Amino acid sequence: MSVAEAVKSRTPTDRLFIGGKSVSPASGQSIEVRNPATGELLGTAPDANPADVDRAVAAARASIESKAWRGKDPSEKEKILWRFADVLEKNLDEMAVLASLENGKTVREALRGDVRPAVDALRYYAGWVRRIYGETIPVDGPYLNFTLREPVGVVGAIVPWNYATLIAVWKIAPALACGCSVVVKPSEMTPFTALKVAEFAMEAGVPEGVVNVVTGYGHTTGEAIGRHMDVDKISFTGSIRTARALLKASAESNLKRISLELGGKNPNILFPDCDRKAALEAAFWGIYANKGEVCSAGSRLLVHQDLHDEFVGMLADRAGRMKVGDPLDPASEMGSQISAAQTEKILSYIESGKREGARLACGGSRLTDGALAKGFFIQPTVFTEVKPEMKIAQEEIFGPVLSTIRFKDAEEAVRIANGTIYGLVSAVWTKDIQLAFRMAQEIKAGSVWINTYNGFDSASPFGGYKQSGFGRDLGAYALEQYTNVKSVWVAL
Ligand code: NAD
Repeated sequence: MSVAEAVKSRTPTDRLFIGGKSVSPASGQSIEVRNPATGELLGTAPDANPADVDRAVAAARASIESKAWRGKDPSEKEKILWRFADVLEKNLDEMAVLASLENGKTVREALRGDVRPAVDALRYYAGWVRRIYGETIPVDGPYLNFTLREPVGVVGAIVPWNYATLIAVWKIAPALACGCSVVVKPSEMTPFTALKVAEFAMEAGVPEGVVNVVTGYGHTTGEAIGRHMDVDKISFTGSIRTARALLKASAESNLKRISLELGGKNPNILFPDCDRKAALEAAFWGIYANKGEVCSAGSRLLVHQDLHDEFVGMLADRAGRMKVGDPLDPASEMGSQISAAQTEKILSYIESGKREGARLACGGSRLTDGALAKGFFIQPTVFTEVKPEMKIAQEEIFGPVLSTIRFKDAEEAVRIANGTIYGLVSAVWTKDIQLAFRMAQEIKAGSVWINTYNGFDSASPFGGYKQSGFGRDLGAYALEQYTNVKSVWVAL
């Protein structure tokens, strides 16, 4: 039996994970989950209804009330989170194959960008458990005043399909470090990895009810979490449209607090004195990693006019040679897009680019040769002569489509960089350190990478400006999301 066959045989079909157990749903509805690269049926996942969500929230609440997790000694919690990381690491290869089967990403991307960093995030937050504490504050009068940081309670973690393991863990790990309990809702297209993560939590010794997973569609399961009166906080990663629905649901229910990690139309800015070889590699993977289905994709390449033609020529040449194909083949550099709908969306953006007068330097079509016809493979695409106001320069495509834009000086580059509704990440390439720092100050984005791209570390905060969202995942900043601060006064 191949690894893929073995992984498929172990997918937890038609199950939810509630109260420490794999359980059948109350909902009679289920969703077919297919491998987007082949069309093959992987299994089915319940479309959890409000009764299922109630059950998961009740299990999480019971674990909060019983203090089964939050009441444990900090050193014990730390050990369990370390073990959680160890169990995930032990299952690294299997998880990478499962992530690839669900999503269409290459196994190598699943390992490098999805599962391995999730292991690190668990270890990083294990290290925080014994360091989350308040302050003593000098106040007027005969008082001792100090603060306690307490778990916010039941967290709804609503996650997308592009990095299904990593983003679930980005929320579970800090929530658990802070003593919270979690109800995770993965995307209906990638439900199985989150169910596995919950099993691993139990294997590591996390008490029942602390990590629960309900699968289902956004308008059913997601809405039920968003509107639940006993969910204290939502940590969301996904689209702006869903973010609006969640803010509305919060406003119309219990005013649960919300943090939002949304999309990006990220500028990668190249000055003529940059290290061209490094910039080329970074620009290439910046857009084509995970088939461009990345919120931090460097989808707008801003190139100084003195470098533009030479650089774009090199990039188009490299993109034209990219190996697109079977995600399970370790030699493949790019896999299949997630779905037919996503593929249609990407192709319609390519048409819009052509219509608006951008020039196609390479790619632009779906690949349908042989076995590729069964999946959703798109050629790595580079547009040149893109104007900042074009649709392909303004809207998040979430596919392997790069828009290159020419600029003449730093002021113009900043203006273009800041000229969208988004502000997630950005990059600047130059050897002029003063210019780089000035740009870093001027660009409105949650991350600025100087002479690098896609710098991620569990210790460094990640999140957006403007409509890319608010609140931060990762780093010490994420702990803010999962704790309440209590001010205690003692009359002396
Ligand atoms: P999406 O908003 O459609 O779905 C995200 C999650 O929300 C899914 O689990 C979905 O089922 C759920 N959902 C949908 N409607 C809902 C509703 N009304 N109430 C509650 N939940 C609902 O996004 P997607 O298509 O899965 O993911 C792509 C988007 O995610 C892109 O815009 C991308 O930029 C963004 N993203 C952002 C980051 C980041 O960290 N900033 C990371 C990855 C993806």
